[in-house]
Amino acid sequence: MAAESNDPSQEAERIWSDTLTLLKASTSLTSRDKGWLQDVVPEAVFGNTIVLSLANTATRQALQNELNDPLLKALQTVSGQAMFPAFKIAPDNFPQVSQEPVEPSDPQPQPEDQPVAEPATAPAAVQFTPTPAAQAVEPVDTFTTPMAPLDQLDPIDPNKVLQDPQTHLNKNATFDTFVPGDSNRFARTVALAVAEGSGKDYNPLCIYGGPGLGKTHLLNAIGNYALVKDRNLKVRYVTSEEFTNEFIEALQNPSQSQGQIADFNRRYRQVDVLLIDDIQFLGGKESTLDQFFHTFNALYQANKRIVIASDVPPKNLKGFETRLISRFEAGLTVDIKPPDLETRIAILRMMAANTNMVIPNDALDLIAERATENIRELEGALTRVTAVASLSNQPVSRALAEQALQDFLTMDVEIKPTDIIAQVAKYFHLTFDDLVGRARTKNVALARQIAMYLGREMTSMSLVDIGEVFGGRDHTTVMHAYTRISNEMQEKQEIYNYVMELTVRLKQGGKE
Ligand code: ADP
Ligand code: MG
Repeated sequence: MAAESNDPSQEAERIWSDTLTLLKASTSLTSRDKGWLQDVVPEAVFGNTIVLSLANTATRQALQNELNDPLLKALQTVSGQAMFPAFKIAPDNFPQVSQEPVEPSDPQPQPEDQPVAEPATAPAAVQFTPTPAAQAVEPVDTFTTPMAPLDQLDPIDPNKVLQDPQTHLNKNATFDTFVPGDSNRFARTVALAVAEGSGKDYNPLCIYGGPGLGKTHLLNAIGNYALVKDRNLKVRYVTSEEFTNEFIEALQNPSQSQGQIADFNRRYRQVDVLLIDDIQFLGGKESTLDQFFHTFNALYQANKRIVIASDVPPKNLKGFETRLISRFEAGLTVDIKPPDLETRIAILRMMAANTNMVIPNDALDLIAERATENIRELEGALTRVTAVASLSNQPVSRALAEQALQDFLTMDVEIKPTDIIAQVAKYFHLTFDDLVGRARTKNVALARQIAMYLGREMTSMSLVDIGEVFGGRDHTTVMHAYTRISNEMQEKQEIYNYVMELTVRLKQGGKE
């Protein structure tokens, strides 16, 4: 992973802050070990050396001995390459040590957990730690992910969600297709370490962030990569809705319930890597949470990997008991932020490379400047631009992109899926029940697919949730509708017009 910033001190700060987060989350370090880390100030990065300034020689000694291995490992994880610390004793950087006179008769004993502050007498000196041979490891993210069970592959439609029936992983969501940027780099790095199996300390890993920022993508990438490393692992991706539904199903048949619950427990407690998405939806569901708590404990005690995605940090999860929140917080919590402009451009380039159109950079820049919320919006904006070009038989240009996005990104209003269904039904002279019902006549099916497309694009709901609103349909049906409508928008003017008109109506709050 290349260093992003050219400023040696900013780079050092970034790397150190992430390294510190990892070390503090480490369960193999004692709080005394962690105490030493307070006395470290990052100064600069030069190549693969990070200069760390320390308050005293005692800190240096700790860093070179008991903390040496974990430090090197964390630096490698964060920077993606073997990185070595150079220590500089600089008491002036630590006012509390250098300014307070040392009182020999200080009656206060040093707290057990804190390193004993040593009066710093040594002059500033840079010392390099010896380079352990074992550190010469390949950067972790230079791999390509082979696609497992090939019979699942549909060569015609690369966007299709290829859900593995056993693991429930989407095989298209890998680290290869996850574009790194400042907003997601740390989350991606840690996810990769967990997938590799080297991130044992980060258990559970909680990834949180707003909708459409890549949490689900990362969970799937972890599962897919873990299986590449060891195909015998039992990996299971599950959304909290699926977990709830399976649990309820297991409870439903009273005469069988004992057997079915045992079955449910066996299924979940045997996994090696549990990836649970959108955990916030378990909030307030007491018996499911209770069940989850036991599943969690069983896996945790057996040292199995658990990764959780949520839209808020664990401490803000509503309707969760503190015992569960503190379990989550015992691991490592990382966030994904909205992508900055550079990252949005990089993601768009990747998406554009997957279309069969030439999209000039200034048009991509414009899309990235306009679609700022999240990656789903970015995808929607690109779809609309390529559709306008394709329908009008023109090449994509900045001006065309501008025109295509005029109505799309203007108003930022909260849209509910039921509003979408109502509006689409009205537009096609159908009823709400037609769209959520089972009828398959051509016009009902089209309207339903358009409504599902808009549901994915205009709300932050998961595919599972959208399927639920549409009369309990499977999330693969929703994804299929989304892909189909995005493709048809490129070919059929009328489909494009339907989607555009409906978008405008919905953004205007249903007014005509
Ligand atoms: P979340 O689960 O946080 O709501 P998703 O993982 O569903 O978000 O991401 C929304 C869409 O954006 C998906 O199609 C996903 O593949 C894509 N995406 C998210 N982050 C990235 C990234 N860094 N690079 C490429 N695509 C991304
Ligand atoms: Mg998600």
